[in-house]
Amino acid sequence: MSKIETICVQGGYTPRNGEPRQIPIVQSTTFKYDTSEDMAKLFDLEESGYFYTRLQNPTNDYVAKKICEMEGGTAAMLTSSGQAASFFSIFNIAGCGDHVVSSSTIYGGTYNLFAVTMKRMGIEFTFVSPDATEEELDAAFRPNTKAVFGETIANPALAVLDIEKFAKAAHSHGVPLIVDNTFATPVNCRPFEWGADIVTHSTTKYLDGHGAAVGGCIVDSGKFDWMAHADKFPGLCTPDESYHGITYAEKFGKEGAFITKATAQLMRDFGSIQSPQNAFLLNLGLESVHLRIRRHCENALKMAQFLKSDSRVAWVSYCGLEGDKYYELAKKYLPDGSCGVVSFGVKGGRKAAEKFMKHLKIIAIETHVADARSCCLHPASATHRQMTDEELYAAGVSPDLVRLSVGIENADDLIADVKQALDQI
Ligand SMILES: *Cc1c(COP(=O)(O)O)cnc(C)c1O
Repeated sequence: MSKIETICVQGGYTPRNGEPRQIPIVQSTTFKYDTSEDMAKLFDLEESGYFYTRLQNPTNDYVAKKICEMEGGTAAMLTSSGQAASFFSIFNIAGCGDHVVSSSTIYGGTYNLFAVTMKRMGIEFTFVSPDATEEELDAAFRPNTKAVFGETIANPALAVLDIEKFAKAAHSHGVPLIVDNTFATPVNCRPFEWGADIVTHSTTKYLDGHGAAVGGCIVDSGKFDWMAHADKFPGLCTPDESYHGITYAEKFGKEGAFITKATAQLMRDFGSIQSPQNAFLLNLGLESVHLRIRRHCENALKMAQFLKSDSRVAWVSYCGLEGDKYYELAKKYLPDGSCGVVSFGVKGGRKAAEKFMKHLKIIAIETHVADARSCCLHPASATHRQMTDEELYAAGVSPDLVRLSVGIENADDLIADVKQALDQI
């Protein structure tokens, strides 16, 4: 097995004699066959191959395979966005009348997807604190619970998920743990090594890293035994009449059932495919993510240390900073570094935070994070604005919170920028 740096550069695609060194962009909606029988085998999932880019495309599959290798999984697919990845990861195994347990500290968009849109589809979510005890976690389960969901490092609360604790709770109730690994990246944490079953990504963030392409990814560890809990997962363990009676868990096993069903059913019906062009751009990002994430972490730690030492800053949250609430968990799950995002509060609350941000020169105000270029956001007035104060606190977002995504510029320049903006409050 190659090490992560080698997989980042060379994983997923191995050209044969005379083939392009870089992955080809297969800019084609459709694929040609000699006979109808050949194509029928694809439709029946008897053979793997391509027929229409709404479901699958070779460029996407090269890139999905690389991320799969980075995470140590058995199967993976790209999606059009991180939102589509989160939605598919749940909807693939839960439907109307089902229930999911989720950490409360999750990305605002995911919270909205779960608490509002998927609730309207008849799927009920119970939100639990990432710091919940085993007993509190157990109490959140119901007979119709189908999955547990959390983020390795929560955006923007920066809570570190105790993956082993959440996996244990999920498995003792016969359901998989799905982990959104966007902020940590597989360079810094591979949730499968700690018991997670499915990993999702917004590849829009560090994996692309250049603010160039929106995208998502789902990876399966191949470890969850669907057939052992067949009563809970009829979609995987009983025949799919829309696919000629195929039973995914039987035909594709633990290693392939989840991703095959998500591709054959959900991608077919929802069409949330990533464009091959974007997959190509994503792959360029993947080739350097192992270098970039190191610099992000170095710069973020320097920034967090500076903020901590400045009297105008009310509080700092960075799980890589000694003394942080999540420092010990970060040491366990993220020993090589956590991420480039630092949260802090400016003394003077919401008003002071807005004034501070207005005076930044290098660091830009954006709804984006995890980009080579430093940027920052005030979630209470942007991404999380539809949430009540109560919901904000439950999601780990106080009204004065500034989320600073530290880029890979020179750390001294970034700190000087923050310093001069603080001077002007
Ligand atoms: C941004 C983000 C998402 C959503 O991803 P999009 O690519 O914007 O759809 C999901 N989870 C986390 C942790 C994110 O940061």
